[in-house]
Amino acid sequence: MGDTAERRATQRIGLIGDPVEHSLSPAFQQPAFDALGLGITYELWHTTASELPARFDLLRSGEALGANVTVPHKEAAFAAMDEVSPLAHRAGAVNTIIPRDGRLYGDNTDIYGFLAPLRERNVALSELRVVILGAGGAARGVVAALLDAGVASVAVANRTAARAQELIADLGDERVTTIALDAVSDRATATDLLVNSTAIGWNGTNLPVETGVFRLLPPGAIVYDLTYRETPFLAAARSAGIETIDGLPMLVHQGARSFELWTGQAAPVDLMWRAAVAARAARHD
Ligand code: NAP
Repeated sequence: MGDTAERRATQRIGLIGDPVEHSLSPAFQQPAFDALGLGITYELWHTTASELPARFDLLRSGEALGANVTVPHKEAAFAAMDEVSPLAHRAGAVNTIIPRDGRLYGDNTDIYGFLAPLRERNVALSELRVVILGAGGAARGVVAALLDAGVASVAVANRTAARAQELIADLGDERVTTIALDAVSDRATATDLLVNSTAIGWNGTNLPVETGVFRLLPPGAIVYDLTYRETPFLAAARSAGIETIDGLPMLVHQGARSFELWTGQAAPVDLMWRAAVAARAARHD
């Protein structure tokens, strides 16, 4: 293989997940690579759990510049890394992989992405009383991010209580507790930030909590849904006069941070944002 062909073979970055076809990441990563003339292609690498070891071996061999990891493999990726960042370690989840000298380094840029729209709004993170719905891979990153940002408290409410308890045990921080999903409304008057990290919301009209909760939230409260589209959860919060944040800023900011880890260059965040907004609108969903 000549130099050019060899170089081309390594100019690939991919998204590892199952499924991956729905992802918006190529729609904003590719224009960013192109704008900087990096000659990198962002690909979708549909990977089942049994195919993960082979995928990681290929990355170790220098076959690509790096990868993103999405549902349901973030925790498996964490376990497979040779080295991880302190935040990825805290969350127990990896969404960005950088191969280095035959070893895999894992980071978690979801954490940075989640906080970005809160920081843009100058939210006083150290005073926040948070309730988070869900205890999956995304919730782990979010809770770790909030604790590192110094929030006052985080209550985790999940359909499967044991999973919430496991998350709390892993994090080992006295500011985190679990509450039952049907106790969220009792807590509402003392909730400054209500986060939906459950998978409910992509389809249909189901809500993870009753809409009455939104009217009980204190003035200035924020409702945040990790889903990067309009959800019944966000619509109900807004109709109760609550400020809302959807998952698109988080997606773009995690992607921008990943871009910087792979390329060592500043990400064109505005361009990525515009491309993501356009791609979402083009889906008519
Ligand atoms: P996950 O690990 O599969 O966890 C799913 C969570 O949703 C669990 O807490 C699960 O509860 C709950 N859930 C699912 N169906 C439910 C139902 N019918 N009723 C009540 N609870 C239900 O997924 P994840 O990685 O945490 O992702 C969660 C969501 O965040 C997804 O929609 C994902 O797209 C989104 N996300 C967005 C970004 C972004 O950049 N915007 C980044 C990461 C994730 P049980 O434990 O009881 O099953």
